Amino acid sequence: MDAITIRRPDDFHVHFRRGEILKSVVPFTARQFGRAMAMPNTSPEPILTRGDALKYWLEITEIVQKVGLSPEDFCPLVTIQITDETEPNTVREIKEEGMGGHKVIVAGKVYPLGVTTNSHNGVSDFRALYRVFAAMEEVGLVLSLHGQVPKAFCLDREKEFLDTLAMLAKDFPALRIVMEHISTKESVDALKDLPKTVGATITLHHLLITLHDVLSFVGEEGSEGLNPHHYCQPIPQKLEDRGALIGAAMSGNPKFFFGSDSAPHLKERKESSCGCAGVFSAPVLLPLLVGLFEFHGKLDRLEPFVSEFGARFYGLPLNQETITLNREEWVVPKEYNGIVPFFAGKTVGLKVQG
Ligand SMILES: [Zn+2]
Repeated sequence: MDAITIRRPDDFHVHFRRGEILKSVVPFTARQFGRAMAMPNTSPEPILTRGDALKYWLEITEIVQKVGLSPEDFCPLVTIQITDETEPNTVREIKEEGMGGHKVIVAGKVYPLGVTTNSHNGVSDFRALYRVFAAMEEVGLVLSLHGQVPKAFCLDREKEFLDTLAMLAKDFPALRIVMEHISTKESVDALKDLPKTVGATITLHHLLITLHDVLSFVGEEGSEGLNPHHYCQPIPQKLEDRGALIGAAMSGNPKFFFGSDSAPHLKERKESSCGCAGVFSAPVLLPLLVGLFEFHGKLDRLEPFVSEFGARFYGLPLNQETITLNREEWVVPKEYNGIVPFFAGKTVGLKVQG
């Protein structure tokens, strides 16, 4: 096969940021995906209301149009951040929100206090938000969770969140819940046992790297060291965890679907004494995903994972267009506008056509 064609995929978790970074990162996603769900933890102002979300949607759409694409080619999906201050009415206002016939505000995201980039306004008590979750259940807004317990040991944070996840699933049986960017075998196992209303996104980088690639990365000269561009939250874990994630992504279980968590930061904010968490994977997502599924002999499971299960979970129509990748080698640039991408400087064997 010289080329691989699949239904145009969706990315159910991406950070586009705002301002100059927004302009430089959106086109990478828009050229590969039919839709992508933009996270609300933007700076300086987070996305907290229907009005904020629609404004952000327009900002993203303007950039999409500037690179010659229309909302028919790529439709951003947006979210609001649920904080301790969110009121049930903030959620109710979002009901049936559409732009140009598209439903665009699809989830409310909860960050526990202080666990990752721009989560200083995160939530400290999930039970205090039960009226908000009930409103989300009522209007059909998906609850998107950054599932980590802030004060726990860094490698145990996700595992320790699983009780909260199970509690929310039990207390809100009709609320659709997504545990974002799962990173452990325990999460995969827990997800399988939870009701159908609970799904999980899996990133490309958690399918490819482990903690070893963060702390004992083998550089160009063959020496081992810290790679700040592989540092992200949740922290990539052990080989057995990566194996469980690969198994889940390729299992054909519709609870597991793709969300890249592509999270750009300027190079100097990564290469720092207190480096930011996030892997900027947007430029290489489809070539590496296709390559990974092919390597495992599971190419038939790729399209469900990236183009079907997420859309079905969110109640969105499947994309009708296709996308083709050609067998063509290219070297990933070392930087894009001051942002170091995943696989920088490495050769990739597939390229998105056009
Ligand atoms: Zn994220």
